[in-house]
Amino acid sequence: MSSPDFESLGIASPVLKAVQQLGYEQPSPIQEQSIPILLAGENLLGVAQTGTGKTAAFALPLLSRIDSKQKTPQILVLTPTRELAIQVAEACQSYARHMKGFHVLPIYGGTDMRGQLRGLQRGAQVIVGTPGRILDHIRRRSLKLNELNGLVLDEADEMLRMGFIDDVETILAETPDTCQRALFSATMPPPIRRVVKKYLGDAQEVSIAAKTKTVERISQRYLMVKGHQKMEALTRILEVEEFDGMIIFVRTKSATVEVAEKLEARGFSAAALNGDLSQSLRERTVNRLKKGQVDIVVATDVAARGLDVERISHVVNYDIPYDNEAYVHRIGRTGRAGREGQAILFVAPKERRLLRSIEQSTRQAIAAMELPTGEQVSDQRVQQFQEKIIQSLEAKDREKFKALLEKLAEDNDISMLDIAASLASQLQEERPLFPNLAPLDSGKRDTGKRDSDKRGRRERGERSSRGERPRKERQRGERKQHDDIDMVTYRMEVGKDHGVMPKDIVGAIANEAGIESQNIGRIKLNDDHSTVDLPEGMPKEIFQHLKNKVRVCQQPMKLSLLGANKPRMRSLDSSAKPKGRSKKPAHKKRAPK
Ligand code: AMP
Repeated sequence: MSSPDFESLGIASPVLKAVQQLGYEQPSPIQEQSIPILLAGENLLGVAQTGTGKTAAFALPLLSRIDSKQKTPQILVLTPTRELAIQVAEACQSYARHMKGFHVLPIYGGTDMRGQLRGLQRGAQVIVGTPGRILDHIRRRSLKLNELNGLVLDEADEMLRMGFIDDVETILAETPDTCQRALFSATMPPPIRRVVKKYLGDAQEVSIAAKTKTVERISQRYLMVKGHQKMEALTRILEVEEFDGMIIFVRTKSATVEVAEKLEARGFSAAALNGDLSQSLRERTVNRLKKGQVDIVVATDVAARGLDVERISHVVNYDIPYDNEAYVHRIGRTGRAGREGQAILFVAPKERRLLRSIEQSTRQAIAAMELPTGEQVSDQRVQQFQEKIIQSLEAKDREKFKALLEKLAEDNDISMLDIAASLASQLQEERPLFPNLAPLDSGKRDTGKRDSDKRGRRERGERSSRGERPRKERQRGERKQHDDIDMVTYRMEVGKDHGVMPKDIVGAIANEAGIESQNIGRIKLNDDHSTVDLPEGMPKEIFQHLKNKVRVCQQPMKLSLLGANKPRMRSLDSSAKPKGRSKKPAHKKRAPK
């Protein structure tokens, strides 16, 4: 299984340098297939979802072909949401960090036009934005596409679901015929196929083959966890899970070192394994793992290729693999020599689709696991503490210490139990026996967008971390307070029958009305319509725009102030319950070092 490196793919040297600095060791499958096609100037249809590395798959080759001296837009990337626009713009910025005079400009609804107009006047070679706002700028002539030579439609199926397809087509029609085009989509519904046929001509199609593999001996679980909480989640798992040897897979070389160092700092015996290490050092690390001199190895896919160590009882996918094949290969590092193996997969809310795709290709359900609670961690530590005390009852100088303590008790008139409690308290200071571990926000019912935490809680009617009570159902027409903003309820003619999800509504309103998504209040989905609480005082033009122009899930939103049409209160809350997945039985605990 040998694959080319970034160098041999032919990306421009400043881009290559950035990629190397970012610690990317090898191209992901979608990158390996897409980069040569885009470098050759051909149109591309990429069937890929978030997490496969698709951003770099189009950004690296397109950036390689940019003329930084020319300040007019050369590449336009359309994204369904402002969050993705920001993410893609940030990625482009990091890949282009060695390109002098390079500018990327994110453009989306919900922010002041003036800043964007200034940015456009200053000049940017790459524009990343949501269709509605991009179209506004094209119409105002503040964005000119006549010199465009690359257009990317990112998450095209999402744009379709959010009702942007007409805008997208209008924009496509504005781009020069000579412009190279790429479209990425996780699914290929007929309207997307139609766009491809009309605007991408004989595009080369790349997709990640989903081969079916069986991995019977390996018990698989996943944990829904946000990126910044992964280390905390990992530490808790390591504390309560009984394991022998473990491989933790991450995406970059730098992450192998970072994660291994953090684990060492938390008292686990861990080492990094990546392609930057010399062959002999890599062999040494693997041997240390074999002999039990180190328990955890944090590795990239490349470095762990073919690794065969019997004592690996666990594989943790700290970063989700790019594709199903890589997943099967990774978890195959455990369950060696007929043993049972455990595989744990961290999934960020936005990576849900990759999880489903892995399940389909392995034809096995991956069970949801719960993050170990503070209580479980505490039980484990108490047990280890007791074991340690019992072991040290054999200590050599015990008689001397007994005499010392007897005198201490007598002189100060304190009980032996008090002395013991005081010593125990001191001993556990670095690793508290009763840690106060807050539950992490698993993001399980997250809408999949970055800034939706607060919303997610509201939709679920849960208390916020500040202990606020959920707002009770209120009567229509009544004003509501939402984080100190007065809210009113609106109705839209899109409901569950049209397949709408809360995130679609949030996306459409955030992008089209310029309302920060955290200011979008409670959403209720009914069969044929929905209601949403929005800040009072919506400007007339925006209301008219939402009423007459905006579509959600291909349905006209037809926003109206809730009045004459009384909503049916039997409607379900918008937050779908997570699918009931079986929980794994508790695992045997292991005494850490
Ligand atoms: P995407 O699918 O574009 O959302 O990318 C998912 C994540 O993978 C991002 O955090 C990227 O920085 C990272 N990534 C993309 N390509 C590579 C690569 N070749 N090696 C390591 N990480 C990568």
